[in-house]
Amino acid sequence: YNEIERIDPEVAKAIYDEINRQNGNIELIASENFVSKAVLEACGTPLTNKYAEGYPGKRYYGGCEHVDVVENLAISRAKELFGAEHANVQPHSGAQANMAVFFAVMEPGDVFMGMNLSHGGHLSHGMAINMSGRYYKPVAYGVSEKDGCIDYDALRKTARECRPKLIIAGASAYSRIIDFKAFREICDEVGALLLVDMAHIAGLVAAGVHPSPVPYADFVTTTTHKSLRGPRGGLILCKAKYAKEIDRAVFPGIQGGPLMHIIAGKAVCLKEAMSDSFKAYQQQIVKNAKALAAALMEKGFKIVSGGTDNHLMLIDLTNKGITGKDAQSMLDEVRITVNKNGIPFDTLSPFITSGIRVGTPAVTTRGMKEEQMKEIAELLDMALSGNYEANKEAIIRRVDDLTRRFPLYD
Ligand code: PLP
Repeated sequence: YNEIERIDPEVAKAIYDEINRQNGNIELIASENFVSKAVLEACGTPLTNKYAEGYPGKRYYGGCEHVDVVENLAISRAKELFGAEHANVQPHSGAQANMAVFFAVMEPGDVFMGMNLSHGGHLSHGMAINMSGRYYKPVAYGVSEKDGCIDYDALRKTARECRPKLIIAGASAYSRIIDFKAFREICDEVGALLLVDMAHIAGLVAAGVHPSPVPYADFVTTTTHKSLRGPRGGLILCKAKYAKEIDRAVFPGIQGGPLMHIIAGKAVCLKEAMSDSFKAYQQQIVKNAKALAAALMEKGFKIVSGGTDNHLMLIDLTNKGITGKDAQSMLDEVRITVNKNGIPFDTLSPFITSGIRVGTPAVTTRGMKEEQMKEIAELLDMALSGNYEANKEAIIRRVDDLTRRFPLYD
C-alpha cells in the first residue's frame, strides 16, 4: 500500500493494524469471512470510478460497455449458481436487498411476519426502529422454548390470525436447517409472499450443504460477504415474473449508482463458488461447526437447540455465570473474536445478553479442521470457565501458535 502510506500514513497505519488483527486473531464471528486475493483485487480496481445508473444495456451514462460485461457476468453466475430465474446484483448491502423487496411488493402499513430479533432474526426483518418496523407492521414468530427450534405450528397459527402480505424466513443466529417447504405451505395457506433471507447460509446453499430456498421462495435475498465469501454487499434472486418490480425497486427505488468494483468482486466470488474446492470448503465449515459444538458441550457449555446443522451456534452462558458482554471482552483480550448475542427468552438486555454467537466460516477459510475446533473449544473453556486470569497468558500463546500455523494474508 505504498501510495496510501505516502498520502495518508494515519489511514495506512490503521489498515496495517487491521490486517495484523485479522492475521493474529481467531475469528469466530459467524457473519465474517476472509475473501480471496482475486476478490480483493477486483474490489480495489478503477471500476470504483464508474457511474452506471441503470442496468446492462440500459444505462443513464455513457462509457458503460465494460462494466456491463462485469455486471452481466455477475448476474448470469448468480442465476446459474443458485438456479434462479432472475438476479439483481446491485444492492449495496443485505439490509438494502431486503428493503428493495419491501419497497417492491408492500405499501406502508402492510403487515408482514419476520423472525423475532431476540430469537435470531435480523433487524431488517421488523425491528421497531428499523425502516422495516417503522413503515410496515411486523408480527414476529420465533422458536419454541422447549427445543430452541422454529415453532412452525405457532407460526402457522399467527399467520392465520394476522394474514401477512409477506413472510420472511431466514435468520442471523439460528443453527438449524430452515424448512422452506413448510414456510411455502404456510404462505400459500394465508396468501402471503415468501421472502427468504439466506444471508448467513448462502455459501452452504450454493454448495448444496443446506437445502435451497430458491424453488420455494418468491424472493431470495442475501449478503455476499458471509459464508459465500465475497465482498460486502447484497444480492436479490427472484422469479422472472417479479424481475421488473425488483429491478425498479433497487434502482431508482432505493439506490443510485451501483458500486461497479464491488459488483466485479461479486462476479469473482460467484465464479469461485462454482468450484469443487468451494463445495469442499462449505462441507468443512459444517463439519467444523459440528465438531466445535460437540467439544463445547463435552466441556459443559450449553448450545441453544442442542447443536448445529450449519455454520454457527449460540452458546448459552447462563450456567457459566458470565454475561455475553463480559465473555466478548474477555475473549477480545486473548485475541479470540466473537459477538455477544441474546439467547431466545433472554432475561438480560441486548447490550448485556446471556450468550455469544460463534461460527466457523472464517477459521475454515484459514484451513482449520476438526482438530483445531477441539483446540478452540479448549481455549474458550480456559477463558470462560472461571480461571480467566490464571489462563490468560497461556491462551494468548496458543492463539499465537494456531494463527501462525494457519496464515492468512501476507
Ligand atoms: N440479513 C441477515 C439474515 C443478516 O444476518 C444480515 C447481517 O448480518 C443482513 C441481512 C444485513 O446485511 P448488511 O449488514 O449487509 O446490511
